[in-house]
Amino acid sequence: MATSAPEDSRQLSGELCIGFDDHGRRGGHGGPPFLKRTCTDDLGKTGLHQVAEVPLPQRAARCCSGYNDAEMPAIDYKDRRRMRLDVEFQFAAAHRLPRYDGPCSRLHGHNYKVFIALEGEVDPASGMIADFGVIKAKVQEHLLARVDHRDLNDVLENPTAENIARWIWEVLQPHLPGLVEVRLYEIPDSCVTYRGQGAR
Ligand SMILES: [Zn+2]
Repeated sequence: MATSAPEDSRQLSGELCIGFDDHGRRGGHGGPPFLKRTCTDDLGKTGLHQVAEVPLPQRAARCCSGYNDAEMPAIDYKDRRRMRLDVEFQFAAAHRLPRYDGPCSRLHGHNYKVFIALEGEVDPASGMIADFGVIKAKVQEHLLARVDHRDLNDVLENPTAENIARWIWEVLQPHLPGLVEVRLYEIPDSCVTYRGQGAR
């Protein structure tokens, strides 16, 4: 494998990129960032070659990684495109499933996790579609205060994950404009997702 850049850059092929060394450090061993090209030498071996040092934009230099050397596009604050936000909540509750033939018919508990998703246009003035703090306050008032450290059979006759998710939608929908989805995890690897009326 060649160890220096060929003089004739027309022999080069492949992507031009910011170089990282084997330890993921930009520029290699703490050195300045550089451009690399992937190319093939006379023996057909492919290698990376440093071809030029490149000053990074100041913003990228403050970041650990993930930027290329392109300029960041300016933000259009009048852009009203729709976006989605998700907020995660947790609560602990007991339940039993009276129609289930198995251990879940007995009283037991879960640490539930629920994701509340809203969609809407970004308001040009605030730059937001909704205030996270307002969402948290509404969910605390209308949902968590009713279920956390409670028996869900006091709310629903058959509190399966599916029925709980639908009930959460019905409880929150009047208070959260733009609600599009409720995702409820009963255990860490299993969830149900419900989109009720009004969801796009
Ligand atoms: Zn259960």
